[in-house]
This record gives sequence, C-alpha cells and structure tokens, in this order.
Amino acid sequence: MKTMMTQPTPESIRQAAQIIRDGGVVGFPTETVYGLGGDALSGEAAKRIFEAKGRPGDNPLIVHIASLSEIDPLIEGEMPEMARKLAEAYWPGPLTMIMKKSSLIPDEVSAGLKTVGIRLPANETARALIREAGRPIAAPSANRSGRPSPTTAKHVLDDMDGRIPMILDGGASEVGLESTVLDVTGEIPRVLRPGGVTPEMIAAVAGKVEVDGTVMRPLREGERPISPGTKYRHYAPEGDLTIVQGEEKAVAESICGMYDGFEKDAAILALPGHEHLYGVRRVYTLGTDGSVESAAAGLFAALRLLDDEKMAHIFSEAVPADGLGLAVMNRLGRAAAFHIVNV
Ligand code: AMP
Ligand code: MG
Repeated sequence: MKTMMTQPTPESIRQAAQIIRDGGVVGFPTETVYGLGGDALSGEAAKRIFEAKGRPGDNPLIVHIASLSEIDPLIEGEMPEMARKLAEAYWPGPLTMIMKKSSLIPDEVSAGLKTVGIRLPANETARALIREAGRPIAAPSANRSGRPSPTTAKHVLDDMDGRIPMILDGGASEVGLESTVLDVTGEIPRVLRPGGVTPEMIAAVAGKVEVDGTVMRPLREGERPISPGTKYRHYAPEGDLTIVQGEEKAVAESICGMYDGFEKDAAILALPGHEHLYGVRRVYTLGTDGSVESAAAGLFAALRLLDDEKMAHIFSEAVPADGLGLAVMNRLGRAAAFHIVNV
C-alpha cells in the first residue's frame, strides 16, 4: 500500500473521510498527538487500527466526536452531571472522559470493557474529518506500538509508511502529549493518565480530583491496571533512560558524573538555558523556551531523535511534577521505566 501524505484541504479531508466510511484507517492531526483513525462503530475498523499499530487488542481506543450533541447514543443513560460540567469547561480540548458505553460501541473498540473513553478534540482538521465521515472516529496515537507518540505527520510516516493509505499533515501538535484520561463513572473524577487538562483544572470545576497511583510508578507485580494502557512500556526510547531530580547544580553534577562513565553513545536531555551546565557533552534540549508547555510539546520529538541517533545511555533533567509537569513526568518516567534518581 502506498501512503499519501497531504495538506488538509476540503478535498483531502473528504477523501480521508471516505476511506474511514469504507472501513479503512488514516493518520490525522489533533492538538494532543497524531491519531490513527477509523470508524468507531465498526469492529472491523478497530481490528485494522490494532493491526497497523501492532498494538495488542486489549488496549481500548478513544472515541472522538465533533460536537457535544453526538455523545448521547454512544453512552449508556445520561451523561454524569460532573462530566457535563467538565465538557463545558474543557471541550473541545485534550480531555478524554471514561463513561459507561452503549451497545453501539463495538467490543473491539472498548477492548471488552463496559466503558468507553470519549473526547471532543480542538483541532479543526480533526473535527472536520469526524463531521465529514458522519460518524465518531476511534483513534489511538498513530505510532507503531512501543514507539513515542507522533507529534508531526513525518513521525506518522516514519512509523506507518506502507501500512495506511493516507496521512493529513496539519503541522506539529500543539500540546504534544496524549489527552488526559479521566474516569467520571464514580463520585470523584479520577485521572488515569495526566495530560493537557491538569488535575488542578479538573478540581477547579469538579471540586475534587484523584490521581491514580500508577501515574508516577510502575505497576506492582500482579496489579490489575484500571487503564489497560498503563501496563505497557509505552513511550520507550531504544536506549536506557535515567531521570535525575533535584536542585539544578546538583542535578547537572550527577548527570555529568554518570555521563562520563560512558565512552560513547551517551546523551543528556536538558531544559533550554541549561546547556552551559554540561560543558562539551552531548545535549539535546527539551522544548524551546524553558516553559513546561514547550517541554511537553517537544518531548516525543526529542525521544524520537535520541532513537534515530542511536543514543544508548540517556540522562534527563526532571521538570516539577505539578500542572502540565505531571504529564511530562509521567511520560518521561514511563520511558525510563521509572528509573528516577533524587539528588
Ligand atoms: P492512546 O489511544 O494511545 O491515546 O491510549 C488510550 C489510553 O486511554 C490508553 O492508556 C487506554 O488504556 C486508556 N483508555 C481508553 N479507554 C479506556 C477505558 N474505557 N477505561 C480505561 N482506560 C481507557
Ligand atoms: Mg498511544
């Protein structure tokens, strides 16, 4: 199969929507990361998505809608009041809410769960594609399983060339990390995966929020994940990654010491402005301006670059784990199999 990469135009969006209506899958931009989209009401389409990703079928897909009015047929009963308030505050945006699914959602999409994750993305191309397809779109991140999520169309092409017919190139993803996954089936909303809508933002609307314990640690032996995706070592670079956390100078000293133990293929992931702390050592910068937003937007591209350049030993600075920083540290932590050194 030849993979066509094209700018989103009314014509190319129509073409992509036709592929989805015919049961195929396409790569498309969203504000979080690029998605691999198929008909969310078709089990066959879901199978094709899993096949293209090389993802195990027990990891549920997020269902994307273009307007709030499309949600009712997809869920069982009424949308919880708290979910409605959160939707009013943060949709369209990087928030996925887990609710009880209706029978319209095939088991392949929910991976056998009785719940479904639903998101209304902000990206205009994504919403135009959903509207044009005339149905909700099930989409995981458009990377091959085990690779960092794609934040540009080129990343999608690198992973999916020859496996999907079409990629809509909408430029770099603004947030750069996958959506916040929030369980709203209980009384207190529970963050299963942190993202662009932070626990602080959720608490501001819902009054309360819980953050699942697995966000900043690996699963314990025999522990059953609430969110099936958390059991996989996602976002993993080829090299081994160590995160060092603490005061700026102490961090740099510790990183330099570990780095100098390797003769080659060692690299440092540092916030911009910190390069001078590492002298002549090989430094990759995390983001462009030192803000946590920019670190989030640049993280996956940096991990891909480290892979491409075959760096075997990577030492990364940490960012403070509050606000959006929690999402950055969750992805970085998982890429490092939570190998975090405190100095
Ligand atoms: P991705 O599609 O790559 O962004 O990953 C989707 C994430 O959402 C995975 O970590 C899933 O485990 C999680 N997820 C999706 N649907 C559900 C659900 N119904 N219950 C719990 N977690 C879910
Ligand atoms: Mg993913």
